[in-house]
Amino acid sequence: MSITLTMRFDSLLFPGGLSRAFTLSYDDGVTQDRQLAELFRQYGLKCTFNLNSGMCGHKFSEGVVRMEEKEFDEVYTGHELGGHALCHSALDSVGRPLMAYEIIEDKRRLEKHAGKPMLMFAYPFGTYNDEVVEQLRLAGYKGARTTVSTGSFALPGDFLRWDPTCHHNDPRLMELAKRFAEGFSRGPMLFYVWGHAYEFDGMKNWNVIEELCAYIADHKKDIWCCTNGELIRYVDAWKSLQYSADGSMIENPSATDVWLQLGGPVCIPAGGVWTDGE
Ligand SMILES: [Zn+2]
Repeated sequence: MSITLTMRFDSLLFPGGLSRAFTLSYDDGVTQDRQLAELFRQYGLKCTFNLNSGMCGHKFSEGVVRMEEKEFDEVYTGHELGGHALCHSALDSVGRPLMAYEIIEDKRRLEKHAGKPMLMFAYPFGTYNDEVVEQLRLAGYKGARTTVSTGSFALPGDFLRWDPTCHHNDPRLMELAKRFAEGFSRGPMLFYVWGHAYEFDGMKNWNVIEELCAYIADHKKDIWCCTNGELIRYVDAWKSLQYSADGSMIENPSATDVWLQLGGPVCIPAGGVWTDGE
């Protein structure tokens, strides 16, 4: 085989060779999730809903009521379940045994509904420290969302400290959406929006999320709409790629097809080897 030396970037592309991914994350499992989950389904969007399994039916205030557990399976059809701690405790302050219990017992209860091991968590109140991160890792979580907006489309360096792009009330929301869907980027772009469904009732602004959903759906041929966990799984598969010394062969030992930008979009098939020029 003769090797031609050329400049390469080998940047990650999402399934189908797309350069954009969109994901959503909503917390607390409130009754307004019924309407929100249905809205997302109508537009073909996927969300990770982070629930407090020890607070089912709990009324926090007028208009903020958590759903009963028996509703979970129907309401969240087509979406992903994530943990949010058993009773929404501030995990960096409750002491290590309770912190571990809040994480693990919540995961155990919710996984009966998820039907598979859960990958995602969201920090109650957005607070955490290194011990909380380590406990999540030990419990089998692969990702955890903070409440810090980056305004950016970069993939996170550490999924267990995953800062989203913005909250849905961010005044830049639609400006960010336009930059995401229509702007140019050399690398992959991830647009990650989060919030609480009860906020739409409180602020009477369901139109904000409807406008965003309609806009993303309009550009769907260029966007991979995925759950948080699907994104982590895909990036894990990408990280598992094995390169030959000269880059002419790339092996994909995972069970997921991985797409790379190699001058054009190239698929490295699951369990296969891509060879340059073949
Ligand atoms: Zn919360």
